[in-house]
Formats: sequence, structure tokens, C-alpha cells
Amino acid sequence: MEKREELYIGKAKSVFSTDDPDHYVMVFRNDTSAFDGKKKAQLDRKGMVNNKFNAFIMQKLMAAGIPCHFEKVLSDNESLVKRLQMLPLECVVRNIAAGSICRRYGVQEGLELNPPTFEFFLKSDPLGDPMVNEHHIISFGWATPAQIERMKELTFQINTILKPLFLSGDMLLVDYKLEFGVVVDKNGNGELVLGDEFSPDGCRIWDKNTREKLDKDRFRQDLGNVVESYEEIGRRIGVKFD
Ligand code: UDP
Repeated sequence: MEKREELYIGKAKSVFSTDDPDHYVMVFRNDTSAFDGKKKAQLDRKGMVNNKFNAFIMQKLMAAGIPCHFEKVLSDNESLVKRLQMLPLECVVRNIAAGSICRRYGVQEGLELNPPTFEFFLKSDPLGDPMVNEHHIISFGWATPAQIERMKELTFQINTILKPLFLSGDMLLVDYKLEFGVVVDKNGNGELVLGDEFSPDGCRIWDKNTREKLDKDRFRQDLGNVVESYEEIGRRIGVKFD
């Protein structure tokens, strides 16, 4: 597999084309950012940790029947993925209130959400990723009604797979963000599959007993030991980093 052109440079990952038109290489960099890119840093080893963490989670999800773009790990900080046409949406499921939902609705951090709740956001840094509803998504053509239903179905299904996984390591999966894309065939139709990544950069995970924050809130809130804490989450669920 030959890595060719850098097609997309995100805040923490880059995507390269390859000699195979159906596959891309996803590179996990050490860059980290928060607050729509306003706070930035380089964190030693983060690319490697997130690449291996993501591979572990994607493999668990695929074993449970979730369609994912992940193919295989190529190196410490690179993975091979299927080429997708991404939908410009972020799907968030919340089991416990934290972050923006507390600010928006004036609820206490730590409130258990029963049943878990779901939100769509438009992926747009200049607009600050605004929350959008299903009517917006259809009217603006960001996804079809069938794709909306499938994204919700898969995102909730992933909750039933990952909540017990983190609980087995004495951790609570507070919330998480997923992005989906379409594997486009020659007729322009395609299966909706999970794209992007699942790592502590895009979810909230607390220690079950102490409620200590183990995820990217450590970076957002200057709590220190960010990458060490990502590794600790991984270690508790069986991710191998060496
Ligand atoms: N999230 C993300 N990327 C974003 C926005 C949110 O990965 O651009 C994740 C975030 O890490 C958390 C969940 O989505 O796990 C919900 O985030 P929230 O809406 O609470 O936003 P925040 O508090 O991060 O502004």
C-alpha cells in the first residue's frame, strides 16, 4: 500500500490517498485541540495511543456487527481505512450530562440521563458546530431520512456495546461523538458506515468510583497527564500499546 497525497488535514488527524482508489490512510498526529481549535498543543505519543485505541474499539464494534471503515493498523500512528464520502454531521449520545448540554439547558454535570439522549451537530468550525435537528438535515440535504434513522440506530447500538466494555474496567461512558460516511459504489449508492475515530479525544470517560475525568476534558480543563490517562483507559479494557 503506497501512501500518496495528503487530502485532508484535520485538527488531530490527516488523511492520505493511496495507490488503491477505495482506501485511504488515516494518520493520527500528536496535535490536540479544543474549543473549535482555539486551544492547541502537541502531546507526545498521543498519535500512537489514539491509533491503537481506535483500532481496538473498531475491531470490537465490527465483531459485534457494526459496519466500520477501519481495515488494519499500518504503523504506530497510521491505519488503513475504506474511502468514504463523509456526512457533515456529528452524532452524540449522552448517558450522563456533561459539557455543552449542561451549559445549554442549565443541568448539573453528572445527572444520569435515562434514557440516554441523542443530538446531531453540524460539522463546521467557523459556525462552532451548531446543534441541528432532523428537519434541518433533510431540508439542507446533509443526509436523507433513511440515513438519519440508520445513524441513530447505529449510534445507540454502539452504546450497548461500549458501555459494558468500559464498565468492565470500572469506567463510565459519559458521552461520545461519532461520524458516519457512505461507501459510494459506481451507481452513487452506498452503505452507511462508521468513519472517523473512537478515542478519548471524542468521548467522555469517568472512573466509576472516583468520577475522575480520564478523557479529553483533562486537556480542556488543564488537569494534566492527558496521554497517560488515555493509556490508562486503554489498559483497563485490554488495549496493548507496545
Ligand atoms: N465532541 C467531539 N468533537 C466536537 C464536539 C464534541 O469529539 O467537535 C465530543 C466531546 O468530546 C464529548 C461529546 O462529543 O465527548 C459531547 O460534546 P459536547 O457537546 O458536550 O461539547 P463540548 O463540551 O466538548 O463543547
